[in-house]
Amino acid sequence: MTVPTTIDSIKRSLVGLKMPRALEVLDAAVRRVEQGEMDGIGALDQILIEELTHRENRRVRTALLVSRLTTIKSLQGFDFTFQPCLDRSRIMALAELKFIDRAEVVHLLGPPGTGKSHLATALAVEAVKAGRSVVFSTLADLIGSLAKAERDGTLRERIRYLARASLLVVDEIGYLPVTPGGGNLFFQLVAARYEKGAMILTSNRGFAEWGEVFGDPVVATALLDRLLHHAVVIQIEGSSYRLRQHADLVPEHVRSKALISPTISPRRRGRPPGRTKADLTSG
Ligand code: ADP
Ligand code: MG
Repeated sequence: MTVPTTIDSIKRSLVGLKMPRALEVLDAAVRRVEQGEMDGIGALDQILIEELTHRENRRVRTALLVSRLTTIKSLQGFDFTFQPCLDRSRIMALAELKFIDRAEVVHLLGPPGTGKSHLATALAVEAVKAGRSVVFSTLADLIGSLAKAERDGTLRERIRYLARASLLVVDEIGYLPVTPGGGNLFFQLVAARYEKGAMILTSNRGFAEWGEVFGDPVVATALLDRLLHHAVVIQIEGSSYRLRQHADLVPEHVRSKALISPTISPRRRGRPPGRTKADLTSG
């Protein structure tokens, strides 16, 4: 019989070519050909698709780790009916990633829990899948890493690395006060990326408050000068998804700050099911 020798030869080739998934599914495919369920070309096609899918999944997994995306979110998992003021088509247009080619800055603004980090993460995941280099960080961590690099004498290299990514996501601008000198470090990074690389920024504070956020109105003005040129601003006016099942427990003064909109219908408040109390405390 010549068939086993040919199969052995194919297996040796697959090992040499480093095609582990194809090697794994080869025997099953051969069996299906022998049983007349598939022809040779069909089997070849299936084996190659398996290997390609395996490699693609591995590439995305590695790239997600490199980008420091710690939680994974998707646009499919975002309930647009919960945020009626948010234009779904604008978000879907961003998911086509042309803003990355144009090196634009996308600002996602809104109160806590309105899905800013979710959307920023989901867009970053789309970019990773499309093979773009992505770095995801909170502002506090980003400034922390820049400050450490400065102490270590490696600030130039750190900024060069961060400036190379096709997309830099800076989450949580405005939650924590920026450490002294931090605004300046962030400005150096923004200046290095200006008109070269895209950014997504999320903030619970308006631009007028950036002087306060960065503890320095001069730095804030210089930052906004770059970050509002070629910018897309998306304001989410809605209520907190985290608090949707607990609106009754939220004090009136918090509710009146539009964290919880009194207009949410009870039906909408309840969905989707299966969320836990942990959502209330997660960042
Ligand atoms: P923000 O960054 O604006 O404070 P998040 O994006 O962290 O809010 O959202 C809080 C939690 O609620 C996350 O688990 C997020 O996935 C979820 N979430 C927020 N808005 C929606 C939505 N419209 N549909 C589905 N999940 C949402
Ligand atoms: Mg957030």
